[in-house]
Amino acid sequence: MKVLISGGGIAGLTLAYWLHHYGHTPVVIERAPHGRLGGYGIDFFGTGYDVAARMGITDRLAAHQLPTESIRYVDEAGRVTARLERRLLERVIRGPYLALMHTTLEEALGDAVRDRVDIRYGRRITAVEQPPDCVGVTFTDGEREHFDLVLGADGVHSETRELAFGPEGDFAHHLGYTMACYPVPDTHGLGPHRIHYSEPGRQTILYPSDVPGQSIALFLYRTRDRRPPPRAQRRAALRSAFADAGPLTSQLLDAAPEEDLFMDTLTQITMPSWHTGRIALTGDACSAMTLTSAQGASMAMAGGYLLARALHQHDDHQAAFRAYQTRLRPAVQERQQRARAFARSLVPASRTGIAAQHLISRLVLRDLFSGLLRRGYGDTTSILDRI
Ligand SMILES: Cc1cc2nc3c(=O)[nH]c(=O)nc-3n(C[C@H](O)[C@H](O)[C@H](O)COP(=O)(O)OP(=O)(O)OC[C@H]3O[C@@H](n4cnc5c(N)ncnc54)[C@H](O)[C@@H]3O)c2cc1C
Repeated sequence: MKVLISGGGIAGLTLAYWLHHYGHTPVVIERAPHGRLGGYGIDFFGTGYDVAARMGITDRLAAHQLPTESIRYVDEAGRVTARLERRLLERVIRGPYLALMHTTLEEALGDAVRDRVDIRYGRRITAVEQPPDCVGVTFTDGEREHFDLVLGADGVHSETRELAFGPEGDFAHHLGYTMACYPVPDTHGLGPHRIHYSEPGRQTILYPSDVPGQSIALFLYRTRDRRPPPRAQRRAALRSAFADAGPLTSQLLDAAPEEDLFMDTLTQITMPSWHTGRIALTGDACSAMTLTSAQGASMAMAGGYLLARALHQHDDHQAAFRAYQTRLRPAVQERQQRARAFARSLVPASRTGIAAQHLISRLVLRDLFSGLLRRGYGDTTSILDRI
């Protein structure tokens, strides 16, 4: 089958790899002019790791890990109030764990398909129509083309979803936070450690990137906003949200870029159905979980793999779409529910809440409590083990 994949991110590239593996002809369109640069760090384990292993890319990923030995929770004076050691995290996860830049994973996936798959950069879909036996697609450059299937892997703000299923507002569930992140010079001597600093309603995180001398600053703050501020106002909005948030935050804010500041609300996507006719969605486009799940990239790979495999196992695309959704959706829902619960306690709203969080963290971040932490993290094992 000739299959159009909209979105050359984690879900889209994984899907392209496996569709090609099963003998189909995928075409990927990616709105960015080239592969994306910069970005943010991800914790990578569970199902995503398993899919990556089946693609033979885990050695490459392991070679590009971010140095991460511990997460240190600090107070305003920079004193460590609690720490989560990597060793304990691995016990909680019960499987291989990698800390990666998001772009490291995307690049590895891109290299796995580049020679086999037609990837067209700087393109988007502007219209789709579904006659009985194909999908007609119009692209931004005005060209029209027919495909057997169209698969939307274009992220949380998916335009494929908008065109085929309806507006984002019908499916978006906001967790009450806005996040921003960008690279900063490493003037804090982080070494292989992450720093988390919380104040009522806001949190600053700093961690090493894969570029020597550079760290990534990540900011999270509570908000009722349903979309991030307009690009031109982002820097000012971030400064205002983090006014008087201590010396570390203040230094990091001074390094905020004037333009292209990556900022978004924490938004989950929940949909009654992930497919309509010859169009289906995968990854964040239909099942965004947000960073509080720490499993979005992993489940995006699960989605790409399972969708391709279902299309291989069923002659009828409708049956394949149904099988894919039935297989994956319970695992997604469980992770979304955990992510919502975690978001509620992530950044306490009061100083008392912050003090309680410090105390609890100091008590439970120990080997003795790995079982309890595991229950808190939810299901981190690979869903491929069960199928
Ligand atoms: C700060 C942060 C931290 C995170 N931490 C973790 C973590 O620790 N662990 C984890 O597993 N996950 C984490 N995530 C979530 C994870 O990054 C996402 O769940 C994952 O990237 C989803 O993959 P995707 O391919 O579905 O979407 P995306 O990665 O968003 O890729 C979508 C692609 O589609 C392209 N695109 C968009 N619109 C169009 C269009 N109209 N036409 C063509 N192309 C289009 C985009 O340019 C992009 O390349 C984090 C996310 C953020 C923001």
